[in-house]
Amino acid sequence: MAKTPGGAAIDPGDLILGTAVDYAGVTRGKLVPADRLDAFAERGVGCSPTWLVFTAGQAIASTGDFTVAGDWRLRLDAKMLTPVDEGMFWGPASIHYQQGDRVAGCPRHVLERVVQEAGAAGCEARTGTELEFVLTRPDGSARELPGWLGYGARSLREAEPFARALVDYFSRAGLRFEQFHAEHGVDQFELSLEPADPVTTADRTVLARILISRAAARAGYGVSFSPMSFTGRAGNGAHLHLSLTRAGVPLFGGGDGAHGVTEAGGAAIAGILQALPELLAVYAGTPVSELRLHPGNASGSYACWGLENREAAVRLVQAADGRPETANIELKVIDAGANPYLAAAAMLSSALAGLTGGLPAPAAVDGDPGAPGLPCPPPNLHTPLPESLARLERSDFAARLLGAEALGGLVAVRRAELAATADLAADERTAYFRLAYSC
Ligand code: GLU
Ligand code: MG
Repeated sequence: MAKTPGGAAIDPGDLILGTAVDYAGVTRGKLVPADRLDAFAERGVGCSPTWLVFTAGQAIASTGDFTVAGDWRLRLDAKMLTPVDEGMFWGPASIHYQQGDRVAGCPRHVLERVVQEAGAAGCEARTGTELEFVLTRPDGSARELPGWLGYGARSLREAEPFARALVDYFSRAGLRFEQFHAEHGVDQFELSLEPADPVTTADRTVLARILISRAAARAGYGVSFSPMSFTGRAGNGAHLHLSLTRAGVPLFGGGDGAHGVTEAGGAAIAGILQALPELLAVYAGTPVSELRLHPGNASGSYACWGLENREAAVRLVQAADGRPETANIELKVIDAGANPYLAAAAMLSSALAGLTGGLPAPAAVDGDPGAPGLPCPPPNLHTPLPESLARLERSDFAARLLGAEALGGLVAVRRAELAATADLAADERTAYFRLAYSC
């Protein structure tokens, strides 16, 4: 009998869910009977080249590279195979041409390439992520429980059937979460995953969304990871933490720069901040992202960095217990409308560009970046989507990072979503995207 790498037995009558995340940030999937597991991993199953360019609203944003003609193969990465429910297993899939070559615009391949580039520069990256989400009724409407208490023990107690289901699903999957809490926003929760290599973390982000969505369904809820689930409430972030070592030496702790950041670590931060305006639509590019990315929302909407600063795009988390390897930087602007593979690739690649270019470390901003009277006030990243899309489209950095195919597809998807929702009232727009990123 087949087994997962973690040792769970797979029955021939079970089902395998293979997923790929498209440019809209939506997780798509195929179910394959478990007796075809080897074929799913080796030859793959067919998918149309339009798979990557569906929008969150089910339109297809075809480009010359992504059309209705042709066929690609979704190949399961069997070494990630994980039990996610009774008789149900999951694994991430990568996209290949029928002859076997990798489709260059496949987001998982893009991230694998950037991780290799880091390795060639002598760097090793680890990432970890935080998942913020809002519990809803199963149909996506508001729960309407009275008297939400952010971080409140009572709000946690009211969510206990969900929390128990979460623990069941995560332990069956062998995935650890570090902590779970009731967030500041009404009906909002957060769960964080422990660090791993960037591809594993992006895979686990998908896995965690699957497990959270199933736990919510078991407890009688729907779940929204959307950047803004309901108009006027708190937004949901998909913050990404990055720690980097070069030749084994940690870069964000134990150094001589501000707050213990090394010279190379400061250059990496500078690289991330420098590329941020042109990559903003990769990180936060949905028509509801700009409702979240505002000063005062703890979404990191100023283009600066600072020690534990939640209004800075890059928040330094200082080394714990004097161990420099635990220091990391968090990119707060990312939301769940971003493809998690492309967001990680963008963050890591811009950090590497800063590092290899030897950029000088920008000054840390440790108070409110929007406070009046700062000598060099950092730019506010809140940008209308048409403008951030135009910058992305013109960006040489993005063209090198993503390749022309993925860049064209991503911009086309975001423009199609923008056009489809431009005339909607704010409430209708948030409803349009509310359940798009749950699984
Ligand atoms: N909900 C905030 C966001 O949209 C983050 C709050 C926090 O710092 O955890 O990013
Ligand atoms: Mg949070």
